[in-house]
Amino acid sequence: MAAETLVPTSVDEATKLFGDGDGITVFAGGTILMPEIAAGRLKPARALMLHRSGLAELRADGDVVRIGAMVPVAALADGADELLARFASQIGDREVRAGATVGGNLCASPGLAAQRGDLGAPLIALGARVRSTGKGGERTEPVEDFLGADRAGRLVLEIEYDRPSGAWSAQTMRRRHAHSYAIANVAVCSSADGLRVGVSGVGPTAVRSRAVEQSRNAEDVLKDVETVDDAVASAEYRRKMLVVLVRRALDEVEA
Ligand SMILES: Cc1cc2nc3c(=O)[nH]c(=O)nc-3n(C[C@H](O)[C@H](O)[C@H](O)COP(=O)(O)OP(=O)(O)OC[C@H]3O[C@@H](n4cnc5c(N)ncnc54)[C@H](O)[C@@H]3O)c2cc1C
Repeated sequence: MAAETLVPTSVDEATKLFGDGDGITVFAGGTILMPEIAAGRLKPARALMLHRSGLAELRADGDVVRIGAMVPVAALADGADELLARFASQIGDREVRAGATVGGNLCASPGLAAQRGDLGAPLIALGARVRSTGKGGERTEPVEDFLGADRAGRLVLEIEYDRPSGAWSAQTMRRRHAHSYAIANVAVCSSADGLRVGVSGVGPTAVRSRAVEQSRNAEDVLKDVETVDDAVASAEYRRKMLVVLVRRALDEVEA
């Protein structure tokens, strides 16, 4: 599969082997990577396999929920957090969700025929933070900053968020068939600090819509989000549906 395969058995060992990430391909569940290798589009030189690295813990420290990068999407789909479950349960099918990980979803490379990284929307709305390591050492940053920066050279260790206490809304639009990818996803959380609006499934990475958070006007989502054409939907259709989904989400949290 790869010229060299590295299998760390602890988080420290994974961090050391990853180093600054140069020349390393990180393998989590492999649901994106394995088809790429099978199609001959990816030929990893050094593969860092995370399945024994101890990063698969999902736990709560008081009101803070911590999700290890290797936690399977299935654990969120069946989990206690209803907002995350609403998005996680729509990713692939049972088999895909059992292998797919949260870290892999966050770091999903842009898809050619469909958009991935659905969990970005609810994680942004929840105000989640990403703990990662790599060049310059370990850092923790808001998920939207992690997604907006150059992710090459970062190894995601954990994602954490404060359990939501206010109203929330999950809006997603997909084609009705098995393995359907999103046309658009919108998640909104309301708290004492105001609204947080996350969008995914419309472009290569999830985006926070600060414009909507400030104006509470659904059309303003198009100031923050660029939609793409792919096999699932056109960019134009996505723009139209995105505004509808944001409006529904705002109505729901403000009701
Ligand atoms: C049939 C099918 C349907 C699917 N439907 C959906 C869908 O509806 N929505 C959706 O969002 N996705 C979908 N996917 C894509 C994929 O299954 C998910 O995005 C999944 O969460 C990816 O996780 P993984 O662990 O398998 O990633 P992998 O394939 O292991 O890795 C994906 C990318 O992330 C990087 N990576 C993985 N872990 C880390 C880490 N800890 N730190 C840094 N980089 C890392 C890898 O190097 C690679 O570039 C689907 C896939 C299939 C096969």
